[in-house]
Amino acid sequence: YAAKGTGEPYRRWSPALDEQAGEQARLGAEIRAALDGDQFRVVYQPIVTAPAGRMAGVEALVRWEHPERGPISPAYFIPVAERNGLIVELGAWVLRTACEQMVRWRDDTMATAPGYLSVNVSARQLARPGFPQTVADILTTTGLPPTHLTVEVTETAVFDGGHAVQALHQLRALGVRIALDDFGTGHSSLRLLRTVPVDTLKVDKSFIDDITGAGEHRVIAEALIHVCEGLGLTAVAEGVETAEQAEVLHRIGYRLLQGYHFGRPVAAADLDLLPSQPAITA
Ligand code: C2E
Ligand code: MG
Ligand code: MG
Ligand code: MG
Repeated sequence: YAAKGTGEPYRRWSPALDEQAGEQARLGAEIRAALDGDQFRVVYQPIVTAPAGRMAGVEALVRWEHPERGPISPAYFIPVAERNGLIVELGAWVLRTACEQMVRWRDDTMATAPGYLSVNVSARQLARPGFPQTVADILTTTGLPPTHLTVEVTETAVFDGGHAVQALHQLRALGVRIALDDFGTGHSSLRLLRTVPVDTLKVDKSFIDDITGAGEHRVIAEALIHVCEGLGLTAVAEGVETAEQAEVLHRIGYRLLQGYHFGRPVAAADLDLLPSQPAITA
């Protein structure tokens, strides 16, 4: 670590792979400590109806406030937790914490609870034979009705095969709904939509970003709406950042929108449970 603080990037003369492996091992150990030390939090991002702007649901997203490094992105540490297996414990903690919160919202007579809770599940979690039972146990102990839970899985996690598809059938049998997350970035096999139990497609932000332009992403986003309608699936547009995007998405048929334009992920206490502004005013 001699180069630290000298202005010379360590990366330049260290074998990059060793450095990465070291960082991964370090981070992996820190995830273990963070689980024991209660450093993880769950935040919630609204998924709203268009054009009314009602909060249809919330997506639970994990946050890690590292005591020295500050906030670390899940896009960075979730893959590490996947590789060292701690995602199983972390994922179960997120699921339990979010289900408990949903029950609290539903019990709160002063506010309108989000209609459903959506929780991300990684490939490794899904591949574990015991996963559906873990979900069933958490639903039983928290008292959240299964129909109020959606699990978000990626196309890749499902494509990996193994127990994944079987697990989805078991979750379905419980009454839990299934969303394909980041749709369009993985294998995007349309056959998957017929061979795997799926209720919702979350159309990836990369298709939404340039939706107001004349580019091909808009054509694809529009085609996916027709696919969803034809197959009886729900479509959610991810990463909606502007009123213009929301307006175009509504016009081409999207009825569920999620993104910074409607609300960033926030702590449960900061989620606005009061009736909101219309999502589309144009
Ligand atoms: P994701 O499931 O696709 O979640 C959406 C991500 O996009 C979140 O990032 C969210 O904060 C961000 N986002 C939402 N709206 C906008 C927008 O309008 N603009 C932009 N630029 N970003 C937006 P986050 O929270 O950093 O999570 C990143 C990824 O990490 C998630 O992508 C998911 O794959 C994974 N992840 C997060 N929490 C969990 C978890 O509890 N378990 C598992 N297995 N994975 C998780
Ligand atoms: Mg997600
Ligand atoms: Mg997503
Ligand atoms: Mg995404």
